[in-house]
Amino acid sequence: NSFIDLKLSRSLLRACEALGYHNPTPIQAACIPLALAGRDISGSALTGSGKTAAFTLPVLERLLYRPKRVKAIRVLILTPTRELAAQVHSMIEKLAQFTDIRSCLILGGFSTKEQESALKTLPDIVVATPGRIVDILRNSLSISLDDLGILILDEADRLLEVAFSGEIRELIRLCPKKRQTMLFSATMTEKVDELINLSLTEPVRLQA
Ligand code: AMP
Repeated sequence: NSFIDLKLSRSLLRACEALGYHNPTPIQAACIPLALAGRDISGSALTGSGKTAAFTLPVLERLLYRPKRVKAIRVLILTPTRELAAQVHSMIEKLAQFTDIRSCLILGGFSTKEQESALKTLPDIVVATPGRIVDILRNSLSISLDDLGILILDEADRLLEVAFSGEIRELIRLCPKKRQTMLFSATMTEKVDELINLSLTEPVRLQA
């Protein structure tokens, strides 16, 4: 039960070591191999379970493993609040510190122009709250999700509370059909189940 058994690249193992992560948490041990194999995942996981690194590590590994031919947004992570988006973004920066993978934060409440410029540099990963990113994608001709390979829906139950479900559906429609999707939720409500049916393909269900 160590990160080395999970077949992660040296740059990611070094980051785990730098953060003082010696062993994967149960959700990480379950999620990382399935995510690396490209499976869709729905996980019931609470904050504190280590779920952020459980999806971030395989996302980074897949980006390292399949270098891009062109610069493009390849991963979109949706979170319900600005605070959570900032936490996820900071976790990505820490785990990606020995790689050249770039992540960008797109939030309501800050300058749309600056965030659009940041997106035009085509970061590998975009961490966003739904309202602002949908707004930018609707209005920009030069920014698209056409090369996206991975979609993450974090805290899906809260996501459905804060966002209009139409916005979430619209974002899912803007992603390529052929992609990997991972959804995490503290509670599995009927609405979350609908979202799972809408956005995941033959998901593996994990409990943390
Ligand atoms: P999360 O559930 O993603 O909000 O993570 C909760 C806390 O656990 C964060 O402060 C992480 O830095 C920490 N953490 C995540 N994975 C590990 C690990 N494998 N070992 C020790 N701490 C961890």
